[in-house]
Amino acid sequence: MNNTCGLSDLPDGHLLQPVWDHLRRRQELLLSPYLPASFALLAHLLFCAPFLALDVLGHCWPAVHRFRIAGSSTIPVCLRRWFDCFVRILLKYLTCVIPATALLQQFRTRRLPAVAPSCCQALWEIILCLLLFDTFFYFWHIIVHRVPWLYQWVHRTHHYNWDTFALVAQDASRTELLSLQILALSSAAVVGCHPLSEIFFHLLNTWLAVEDHCGYDLPWALHHFLPGVGGAPFHQLHHQKFRGNYAPYFKHWDQLCGTYLTEEVT
Ligand SMILES: [Zn+2]
Ligand SMILES: [Zn+2]
Repeated sequence: MNNTCGLSDLPDGHLLQPVWDHLRRRQELLLSPYLPASFALLAHLLFCAPFLALDVLGHCWPAVHRFRIAGSSTIPVCLRRWFDCFVRILLKYLTCVIPATALLQQFRTRRLPAVAPSCCQALWEIILCLLLFDTFFYFWHIIVHRVPWLYQWVHRTHHYNWDTFALVAQDASRTELLSLQILALSSAAVVGCHPLSEIFFHLLNTWLAVEDHCGYDLPWALHHFLPGVGGAPFHQLHHQKFRGNYAPYFKHWDQLCGTYLTEEVT
Protein backbone atom coordinates (compact mmCIF):
# COMPACT_ATOMS: atom_id res chain seq x y z
CA MET A 1 0.00 0.00 0.00
CA ASN A 2 1.36 3.39 -0.95
CA ASN A 3 0.91 5.70 2.01
CA THR A 4 2.88 8.64 0.63
CA CYS A 5 1.21 11.75 -0.71
CA GLY A 6 2.17 15.23 -1.82
CA LEU A 7 1.53 18.36 0.29
CA SER A 8 -1.23 19.43 -2.10
CA ASP A 9 -3.14 16.18 -1.33
CA LEU A 10 -3.15 16.86 2.40
CA PRO A 11 -6.02 18.49 4.23
CA ASP A 12 -5.14 22.00 5.39
CA GLY A 13 -4.61 20.91 8.95
CA HIS A 14 -2.19 18.08 8.20
CA LEU A 15 0.84 19.78 6.72
CA LEU A 16 2.89 18.06 9.40
CA GLN A 17 1.92 14.58 8.21
CA PRO A 18 5.02 14.04 5.98
CA VAL A 19 7.30 15.06 8.87
CA TRP A 20 5.50 12.71 11.23
CA ASP A 21 5.48 9.83 8.70
CA HIS A 22 9.23 10.28 8.29
CA LEU A 23 9.80 10.15 12.05
CA ARG A 24 7.45 7.21 12.60
CA ARG A 25 9.61 5.08 10.33
CA ARG A 26 12.20 5.30 13.14
CA GLN A 27 9.85 3.92 15.78
CA GLU A 28 12.52 2.09 17.75
CA LEU A 29 14.42 5.38 18.11
CA LEU A 30 11.33 7.43 19.01
CA LEU A 31 10.30 4.93 21.68
CA SER A 32 13.78 4.47 23.13
CA PRO A 33 13.86 5.36 26.85
CA TYR A 34 17.29 6.90 26.25
CA LEU A 35 15.95 9.36 23.68
CA PRO A 36 14.61 12.26 25.84
CA ALA A 37 17.80 13.02 27.76
CA SER A 38 20.12 12.26 24.80
CA PHE A 39 17.98 14.48 22.57
CA ALA A 40 18.06 17.27 25.19
CA LEU A 41 21.86 17.09 25.38
CA LEU A 42 22.39 16.99 21.61
CA ALA A 43 19.91 19.81 20.96
CA HIS A 44 21.59 21.87 23.67
CA LEU A 45 25.08 21.42 22.19
CA LEU A 46 23.80 22.15 18.68
CA PHE A 47 21.98 25.33 19.75
CA CYS A 48 25.06 26.51 21.67
CA ALA A 49 27.29 26.26 18.58
CA PRO A 50 26.39 29.68 17.06
CA PHE A 51 27.04 31.36 20.42
CA LEU A 52 30.41 29.61 20.71
CA ALA A 53 31.23 31.05 17.27
CA LEU A 54 30.10 34.50 18.47
CA ASP A 55 32.28 34.26 21.60
CA VAL A 56 35.31 33.25 19.49
CA LEU A 57 34.57 36.05 17.02
CA GLY A 58 34.26 38.54 19.89
CA HIS A 59 37.92 38.07 20.80
CA CYS A 60 39.10 39.37 17.43
CA TRP A 61 36.17 41.55 16.31
CA PRO A 62 35.17 44.11 19.01
CA ALA A 63 31.97 45.05 17.12
CA VAL A 64 30.42 41.92 18.68
CA HIS A 65 30.82 43.45 22.18
CA ARG A 66 28.00 45.93 21.65
CA PHE A 67 25.52 43.06 21.78
CA ARG A 68 26.77 41.94 25.21
CA ILE A 69 24.11 42.34 27.90
CA ALA A 70 24.47 45.38 30.13
CA GLY A 71 26.02 44.40 33.45
CA SER A 72 27.84 41.34 32.14
CA SER A 73 31.48 41.24 31.11
CA THR A 74 32.02 43.10 27.84
CA ILE A 75 34.59 40.50 26.75
CA PRO A 76 33.05 37.14 25.73
CA VAL A 77 34.11 34.15 27.83
CA CYS A 78 37.24 32.23 26.90
CA LEU A 79 37.37 28.81 25.23
CA ARG A 80 38.76 27.21 28.40
CA ARG A 81 35.49 27.99 30.26
CA TRP A 82 33.48 26.55 27.38
CA PHE A 83 35.56 23.36 27.39
CA ASP A 84 35.43 22.88 31.19
CA CYS A 85 31.67 23.44 31.18
CA PHE A 86 31.20 20.98 28.28
CA VAL A 87 33.11 18.25 30.15
CA ARG A 88 31.07 18.82 33.35
CA ILE A 89 27.75 18.62 31.47
CA LEU A 90 28.77 15.56 29.45
CA LEU A 91 29.87 13.65 32.57
CA LYS A 92 26.64 14.46 34.41
CA TYR A 93 24.48 13.35 31.50
CA LEU A 94 26.40 10.11 30.97
CA THR A 95 26.59 9.15 34.64
CA CYS A 96 23.16 10.28 35.84
CA VAL A 97 20.69 12.16 33.63
CA ILE A 98 20.50 9.74 30.67
CA PRO A 99 20.28 6.50 32.73
CA ALA A 100 17.91 7.98 35.36
CA THR A 101 15.58 9.48 32.72
CA ALA A 102 15.57 6.13 30.86
CA LEU A 103 14.55 4.41 34.09
CA LEU A 104 11.69 6.87 34.64
CA GLN A 105 10.55 6.46 31.03
CA GLN A 106 9.80 2.79 31.78
CA PHE A 107 6.77 3.97 33.77
CA ARG A 108 5.40 6.04 30.91
CA THR A 109 3.17 4.56 28.21
CA ARG A 110 4.23 5.86 24.80
CA ARG A 111 2.10 5.60 21.67
CA LEU A 112 2.82 6.82 18.19
CA PRO A 113 -0.50 7.74 16.55
CA ALA A 114 -0.71 7.36 12.78
CA VAL A 115 -2.06 10.87 12.21
CA ALA A 116 0.04 13.99 12.75
CA PRO A 117 -1.38 16.94 14.68
CA SER A 118 -2.70 19.87 12.68
CA CYS A 119 -0.50 22.99 12.73
CA CYS A 120 -3.04 24.73 15.02
CA GLN A 121 -3.12 21.76 17.41
CA ALA A 122 0.69 21.57 17.51
CA LEU A 123 1.01 25.33 18.11
CA TRP A 124 -1.59 25.28 20.87
CA GLU A 125 0.01 22.26 22.57
CA ILE A 126 3.49 23.79 22.40
CA ILE A 127 2.22 27.04 23.98
CA LEU A 128 0.43 25.09 26.74
CA CYS A 129 3.56 23.00 27.43
CA LEU A 130 5.74 26.12 27.62
CA LEU A 131 3.31 27.88 29.98
CA LEU A 132 3.04 24.81 32.20
CA PHE A 133 6.80 24.22 32.27
CA ASP A 134 7.30 27.92 33.06
CA THR A 135 4.85 27.61 35.99
CA PHE A 136 6.41 24.41 37.36
CA PHE A 137 9.90 25.88 37.04
CA TYR A 138 8.95 29.23 38.64
CA PHE A 139 7.67 27.64 41.86
CA TRP A 140 10.43 24.98 41.97
CA HIS A 141 13.04 27.73 41.46
CA ILE A 142 11.64 29.83 44.33
CA ILE A 143 11.64 26.78 46.61
CA VAL A 144 15.27 25.89 45.87
CA HIS A 145 16.27 29.51 46.56
CA ARG A 146 14.36 29.78 49.83
CA VAL A 147 15.18 26.41 51.42
CA PRO A 148 18.90 26.58 52.28
CA TRP A 149 19.66 22.85 52.14
CA LEU A 150 17.85 22.55 48.79
CA TYR A 151 19.82 25.50 47.44
CA GLN A 152 23.08 23.82 48.46
CA TRP A 153 22.05 20.41 47.15
CA VAL A 154 20.24 21.36 43.95
CA HIS A 155 20.80 24.89 42.69
CA ARG A 156 24.13 26.29 43.95
CA THR A 157 26.14 24.80 41.06
CA HIS A 158 24.12 26.73 38.47
CA HIS A 159 24.80 29.99 40.31
CA TYR A 160 28.58 29.54 40.14
CA ASN A 161 28.09 31.28 36.80
CA TRP A 162 27.63 34.96 37.57
CA ASP A 163 28.56 35.82 34.00
CA THR A 164 26.64 33.44 31.80
CA PHE A 165 27.32 31.97 28.37
CA ALA A 166 25.12 29.69 26.26
CA LEU A 167 26.42 26.34 27.58
CA VAL A 168 25.65 27.42 31.17
CA ALA A 169 21.95 26.67 30.59
CA GLN A 170 22.79 23.06 31.49
CA ASP A 171 25.67 23.74 33.89
CA ALA A 172 23.85 22.54 36.98
CA SER A 173 23.96 19.77 39.56
CA ARG A 174 22.89 16.26 38.58
CA THR A 175 19.77 16.69 40.70
CA GLU A 176 18.82 19.92 38.98
CA LEU A 177 19.43 18.54 35.47
CA LEU A 178 17.27 15.56 36.31
CA SER A 179 14.55 17.73 37.86
CA LEU A 180 14.47 19.89 34.68
CA GLN A 181 14.06 16.78 32.56
CA ILE A 182 11.22 15.58 34.80
CA LEU A 183 9.49 19.00 34.72
CA ALA A 184 9.69 19.13 30.91
CA LEU A 185 8.46 15.55 30.43
CA SER A 186 5.71 16.08 33.03
CA SER A 187 4.53 19.26 31.27
CA ALA A 188 4.10 17.35 28.00
CA ALA A 189 2.40 14.44 29.82
CA VAL A 190 -0.06 16.74 31.66
CA VAL A 191 -0.98 18.56 28.44
CA GLY A 192 -1.32 15.15 26.78
CA CYS A 193 0.15 16.48 23.59
CA HIS A 194 0.95 14.66 20.39
CA PRO A 195 4.52 13.21 20.31
CA LEU A 196 5.39 15.52 17.40
CA SER A 197 4.23 18.59 19.36
CA GLU A 198 6.28 17.28 22.28
CA ILE A 199 9.41 17.14 20.10
CA PHE A 200 8.84 20.76 19.00
CA PHE A 201 8.24 21.77 22.62
CA HIS A 202 11.51 20.21 23.79
CA LEU A 203 13.40 21.90 20.95
CA LEU A 204 11.89 25.32 21.71
CA ASN A 205 12.40 24.80 25.44
CA THR A 206 16.09 24.04 24.85
CA TRP A 207 16.53 27.02 22.52
CA LEU A 208 14.91 29.43 24.99
CA ALA A 209 17.18 28.15 27.79
CA VAL A 210 20.25 28.69 25.59
CA GLU A 211 19.09 32.21 24.67
CA ASP A 212 18.46 32.98 28.36
CA HIS A 213 22.11 32.28 29.17
CA CYS A 214 23.89 33.36 25.97
CA GLY A 215 25.15 36.70 27.37
CA TYR A 216 23.98 38.64 24.30
CA ASP A 217 20.90 40.71 23.58
CA LEU A 218 20.70 40.08 19.87
CA PRO A 219 18.13 41.99 17.77
CA TRP A 220 16.61 38.73 16.48
CA ALA A 221 16.31 37.04 19.91
CA LEU A 222 12.85 35.59 20.50
CA HIS A 223 12.04 37.88 23.45
CA HIS A 224 11.96 40.83 21.01
CA PHE A 225 9.09 39.15 19.11
CA LEU A 226 7.20 36.96 21.57
CA PRO A 227 5.07 38.96 24.02
CA GLY A 228 5.71 38.29 27.69
CA VAL A 229 9.06 36.52 27.17
CA GLY A 230 11.94 37.90 29.26
CA GLY A 231 14.94 36.51 27.37
CA ALA A 232 18.62 36.88 28.25
CA PRO A 233 18.46 40.36 29.93
CA PHE A 234 15.70 39.05 32.26
CA HIS A 235 17.54 35.87 33.28
CA GLN A 236 20.98 37.48 33.44
CA LEU A 237 19.65 39.75 36.22
CA HIS A 238 18.70 36.64 38.20
CA HIS A 239 22.28 35.36 37.92
CA GLN A 240 23.70 38.73 38.97
CA LYS A 241 21.34 39.43 41.91
CA PHE A 242 20.72 35.82 43.11
CA ARG A 243 17.05 36.72 43.52
CA GLY A 244 14.01 37.71 41.45
CA ASN A 245 13.12 36.79 37.86
CA TYR A 246 12.64 33.16 38.88
CA ALA A 247 10.62 32.13 35.83
CA PRO A 248 12.66 30.70 32.97
CA TYR A 249 10.87 32.35 30.06
CA PHE A 250 7.75 34.38 30.70
CA LYS A 251 7.52 37.40 33.01
CA HIS A 252 3.93 37.06 34.26
CA TRP A 253 4.60 34.93 37.38
CA ASP A 254 7.34 37.28 38.58
CA GLN A 255 5.14 40.31 37.90
CA LEU A 256 2.15 38.74 39.70
CA CYS A 257 4.15 37.51 42.71
CA GLY A 258 6.30 40.63 43.20
CA THR A 259 9.61 39.00 42.24
CA TYR A 260 10.08 40.87 38.97
CA LEU A 261 13.42 42.65 38.59
CA THR A 262 14.42 45.18 35.96
CA GLU A 263 17.73 46.94 35.56
CA GLU A 264 16.10 50.20 36.77
CA VAL A 265 14.63 48.90 40.03
CA THR A 266 17.59 46.78 41.16
ZN1 LIG B 1 18.41 30.64 40.70
ZN1 LIG C 1 20.30 30.27 34.73
